[in-house]
Amino acid sequence: MLPIFPPVELINHAPLQQFTTFGVVAVCDHLYRVEDMEELKLAARYLERPLILGGGSNILPVGDVHRNVLRIELKGKEIVEDGPDPLVWAAAGENWHETVLWALGQDLGGIENLSLIPGTVGAAPLQNIGAYGVELESVFHSLEAIELTTGEIRTFTRDECRFGYRDSIFKQEARDRYIICGVFLRLHRDHQVNTSYGAIREVLEQKGITHPGIHEVSDAVISIRQSKLPDPAVIGNAGSFFKNPMIPVAKFEHLQALHPQLPGYPGNDGQVKVPAGWLIEKAGWKGKSIGPAGCYEKQALVLVNRGGATGLDIWNLAEEIMSAVRQMFDINLQPEVNIWK
Ligand code: FAD
Ligand code: NAP
Repeated sequence: MLPIFPPVELINHAPLQQFTTFGVVAVCDHLYRVEDMEELKLAARYLERPLILGGGSNILPVGDVHRNVLRIELKGKEIVEDGPDPLVWAAAGENWHETVLWALGQDLGGIENLSLIPGTVGAAPLQNIGAYGVELESVFHSLEAIELTTGEIRTFTRDECRFGYRDSIFKQEARDRYIICGVFLRLHRDHQVNTSYGAIREVLEQKGITHPGIHEVSDAVISIRQSKLPDPAVIGNAGSFFKNPMIPVAKFEHLQALHPQLPGYPGNDGQVKVPAGWLIEKAGWKGKSIGPAGCYEKQALVLVNRGGATGLDIWNLAEEIMSAVRQMFDINLQPEVNIWK
């Protein structure tokens, strides 16, 4: 029998398309919404191996979900320690982009390049969210999480999170073991903007901005994203479906001899980062669809639900794309999106 939590809102047979941005039709038997720490502690104690849900912008449910799902809706954010580099705390259920705007409103820099990333603060450490040359880890101080088996709250420092490229300990050995409750960020009043990505420089140049501040960089990022990425409210998607692969230099040179236009950027451990979107486009999948599952016209890295796709439709398309890229480039693409099977 299911435990009853009077203070915790429970939705039976919850339609996951309302809680995830891919919008694929799937039902979850029991979805619990938790709004404060007491509710969260109760839920962590009584629910067996719950799946954790934030804004649902990086999840693909492939079929109905027969595990308890816990949606984290804890709210609150504040400057907990002021100074030249204030320490900011935000609860896991806070919307990430609203938190960026709030920081900008306090004249705090460091996360402006991460404007308009959907989802919650609590999910941000999972894949060390990144965009336009900035990753969460560059401002991350620590986080608090509940361990599911013991119900204990523990702190993870930046080193303990073992951040990597779209990666952290919470996607590896600590996967499904912790619920992140809140995150501490070290932001800055003395701003050092990062305009290393060509697209940002182009927008700033077009606007005649030669000395951009954090607000101008945020505005540029927002306008690029709005022009290039599908709005999940209009067309279902979860952003980049695959990670950009890192390959050894020798392999990159070999591929570049065959495909002189192949772009490459410095990656981890002396490897070369290759844009997966470029590989998918060259493999012929950009703009194509299998039924209602599509590869987005403006950015091949984004898979979309053109209307009525199931999770399996999207996954089958992903497998076709992975196979085509493997055949053409001998590269195994890895999904970035979390697959719920
Ligand atoms: P969810 O999708 O709800 O969950 C993602 C994973 O985190 C799941 O495994 C879930 O179990 C786990 N999780 C969620 N909350 C918690 C918690 N409190 N404790 C423990 N585990 C938790 N990502 C980028 O990095 N950079 C981008 O530029 C970017 N752009 C995007 C653009 C679009 C249009 C879309 C749709 C997505 C984009 N993403 C991007 C992906 C996504 O927005 C991020 O991964 C985001 O951090 C996911 O947040 P969420 O709350 O929606 O997480
Ligand atoms: P883009 O500018 O078309 O570039 C394609 C890829 O090349 C990017 O993925 C990026 O890697 C890499 N790249 C481009 N310029 C680079 C540079 N100067 N140095 C190092 N790497 C460089 O990419 P886009 O699709 O429009 O996305 C723009 C940014 O938003 C990227 O940072 C991307 O990660 C982020 N984004 C992420 C998601 C997601 O769901 N994860 C969705 C949309 C956008 P990186 O991805 O490593 O930056």
